[in-house]
Amino acid sequence: MKIVMLGAPGAGKGTQAKMIAAKYGIPHISTGDIFRANIKNGTELGEKAKQYMDQGLLVPDELTLALIMDRFAQADCSNGYVLDGFPRTIAQAEALTASLKANNDALDMAIDVDVPDENIIERMGGRRACVACGGTFHVLYNPPRISGKCDLCGGELSIRKDDLPETVKRRLTVYHEQTQPLIDYYTKEGILRTVDGTKDVNEVFAEITALLD
Ligand code: AMP
Repeated sequence: MKIVMLGAPGAGKGTQAKMIAAKYGIPHISTGDIFRANIKNGTELGEKAKQYMDQGLLVPDELTLALIMDRFAQADCSNGYVLDGFPRTIAQAEALTASLKANNDALDMAIDVDVPDENIIERMGGRRACVACGGTFHVLYNPPRISGKCDLCGGELSIRKDDLPETVKRRLTVYHEQTQPLIDYYTKEGILRTVDGTKDVNEVFAEITALLD
């Protein structure tokens, strides 16, 4: 099963992607997580990506494509995957279609987790991430047991640079300009499905599994 998750940053597609991965036994591939792991480990790729990410801009396609093609080559992708945060541009979507087609393969579904901008801004303002393990929380919707401390490892929670209000606004602009056209792209491919991302996490997941089963 090969699935692409679409939706604005903060729409909850990462949470849904993790739940899909667990239910269907396929890897969850988040380009954002891979970039953040590279930044944490101080790699050259991480250093390059950070310059764009901190400003709320997209990492250039050639860097992102090299990274994702490398990930697809790993053994755990043989039964499929759920992609979260990739593709984010038409060029990336076309590259993905072409690389699958070369193996007589194709995506099964693109799921758009639809959330209006106003809700996104409110959600992202409350997001906190652990500086040690990257675990994410929300002051209202998913608070840690002890304020400011990670439930998973006890690390300090802070606001990610890309979740700061000005950066969120830029990320939304970038989303509308560069990523939203993928909704048309996958509609034309006949594989787009839309779910209402303003609902409760479990309700959204129920909608998604109804589509996939
Ligand atoms: P995310 O965690 O998916 O919101 O990604 C965080 C940041 O990583 C984005 O704002 C981009 O700067 C970068 N990024 C993640 N995935 C991609 C992608 N497919 N293309 C370009 N930049 C990306």
